[in-house]
Amino acid sequence: MDIVADASFFIHQANFAAFDKIYTVAKVINEIKDKMSKIRMSGLNIIIKKPSWQYLKHINKTSKELGENLSQTDKEVLALALELKKPIATDDFGIQNVAKKLGIKIVPIRFEIKKTRKIVYICPNCKKTYKTNGYCPDCGIKLRKIHYYD
Ligand SMILES: [Zn+2]
Repeated sequence: MDIVADASFFIHQANFAAFDKIYTVAKVINEIKDKMSKIRMSGLNIIIKKPSWQYLKHINKTSKELGENLSQTDKEVLALALELKKPIATDDFGIQNVAKKLGIKIVPIRFEIKKTRKIVYICPNCKKTYKTNGYCPDCGIKLRKIHYYD
């Protein structure tokens, strides 16, 4: 199986036998510092690619819609999966969430989310919801983050 992987894959995946080509972005490789992971990676068929900007733009839009605050690395990994039409191997719920929304197949390492979630911010007083964190403009009360499932 060919996959696109994030850092959690290289760190936590126990068995690599099922994987042929492992695509990732340069930023993921730079994030991996521990020696064990580096040794394990040396035996893998890793292909480093840069996603096209159109796909990155698409990921930016979708993660914003879902309220997922992803790192640039996470977004590039997702964009690459979208562009190559390959499943994504990750333990990160934020990445999985955006992947699910876009119909990208997920190969969980240890954990998998069941449904797409939307992150919204709610005022504990008036119960109005907002897309961004901060204070309720009506009540002046600090908003609370909630996960919302369709
Ligand atoms: Zn309020």
